[in-house]
Amino acid sequence: MQLEFFGAAGEVTGSCHIVRAAGRQLLLDCGMIQGGADAPARNRRNFPFEPQSIDAVVLSHAHIDHCGRLPLLVKRGYRGPIYTNGACADLLPILLRDTAELAMREAERANRDLASGEERVTPLFDIADVEAVLRQVKSMRFDQPRELFPGITVRVRDAGHILGSSSVELWVSEGAVSRKLVFSGDLGQYDTPILQDPFAFEAADLVLMESTYGDRLHRGREGTERELGSILAQAARDGGNVVIPAFAIGRSQEILYLFAKHYDEWQLARWKIFLDSPMAIAASRVYWKHPDRFDAEATRLRAGFRGMPPLPNLVLSGSSDDSRAINNIRGGAIVIAGSGMANGGRVLHHLKHNLWRPECHVIIVGFQAPGTLGRQLVDRLPEVRIHGERIRVAAQVHTLGGLSAHGDQTQLLRWYDSFKGRPPVFLVHGEVPAAEALAVKLREHGASVTVTRPGLQIDLASVPALAHDLPSS
Ligand SMILES: [Zn+2]
Repeated sequence: MQLEFFGAAGEVTGSCHIVRAAGRQLLLDCGMIQGGADAPARNRRNFPFEPQSIDAVVLSHAHIDHCGRLPLLVKRGYRGPIYTNGACADLLPILLRDTAELAMREAERANRDLASGEERVTPLFDIADVEAVLRQVKSMRFDQPRELFPGITVRVRDAGHILGSSSVELWVSEGAVSRKLVFSGDLGQYDTPILQDPFAFEAADLVLMESTYGDRLHRGREGTERELGSILAQAARDGGNVVIPAFAIGRSQEILYLFAKHYDEWQLARWKIFLDSPMAIAASRVYWKHPDRFDAEATRLRAGFRGMPPLPNLVLSGSSDDSRAINNIRGGAIVIAGSGMANGGRVLHHLKHNLWRPECHVIIVGFQAPGTLGRQLVDRLPEVRIHGERIRVAAQVHTLGGLSAHGDQTQLLRWYDSFKGRPPVFLVHGEVPAAEALAVKLREHGASVTVTRPGLQIDLASVPALAHDLPSS
């Protein structure tokens, strides 16, 4: 029995790990690599396994850096089941169809400008591949163990990161030898709006853990909400617009939820709020459809919500005409639009129209991978390029780490501390400095820690057995 690291080892995107046990091969996630000029080429490379040889995929959540290469896997021959929880299964079509359409549009555009003799560009995958993925999805209930194959049992627990985000418990056995692996997936903050806290595990022989913010401490939730309120107050005084690049799934819903929660206190009636993303609009509907995943506060507030949180001045911008109309607004608009790292999508137009104006504000609310426009804004570059145009950054850029979908160092340590017997940790899903910083802290908490790299293989049988909690499925 063996674990091999392939993607999101030494970096944040492209999550994919391979488990070989009981004569089967399983993938944990099959995500897209994002950010960096070489990302498109890296995504096209061959997998280090034959897609036909995989027996099952277990998907932690619907973010594209975890699910984005599933259509490619299917295109290259994978026909097996893709297990995930029901909320993730509801979000998956929204994300994957959007990704395919984007890829197809980009390929079309590239082919239009083709010089004669140049090879035609094909999209990484198309909508037919996505539909094939969706037919292979099998929903699992949270907290219910399921035997996938003799000797392989899985159970998903809430990871509190976005709706339908899970940590994965995996029991594998061969003859008398059995081991339990816990894969954190992406871990949310403990007091994330709407969602439940990450599940507190007790037993594992080996822990695969994310480390996105392993070197960072977020401002507390209350402080963060206060800061957001005061940025909006300042922006109202300045008289410009506010642009919030946000992931369609997760941040968009949480921001709307916070706006609804603080509507009077933050005097939001003076703004026009745009959710400028068909994908975020669709994802919001899925969010409000899964109150079983809500925390106590959201459950209480939901009693007064019908469908979306009640924002009388919320405009859902579905069509591109709706979106373009926002460009004419000089002040008084809060625009939430994707992509979350500002490396594409409608938010680019809004940034192009507002970044150069000192009375405008940009609020960064999520992780920004190196090489993205969002990262350049966080790094306070005085000038950026959008659609080939040079734009001076005069707007005020705020980074609200406390709204992140990922737990910070303290919260990651808290998650690990619930394990009994200090199981060894393999850190994934973090840039090396973040993972190294978390490793130092985890070692102080008694763990043996490995910062993973692609191709690293672990013989699971050689890991000492600590967990004895194989559930009957
Ligand atoms: Zn995620």
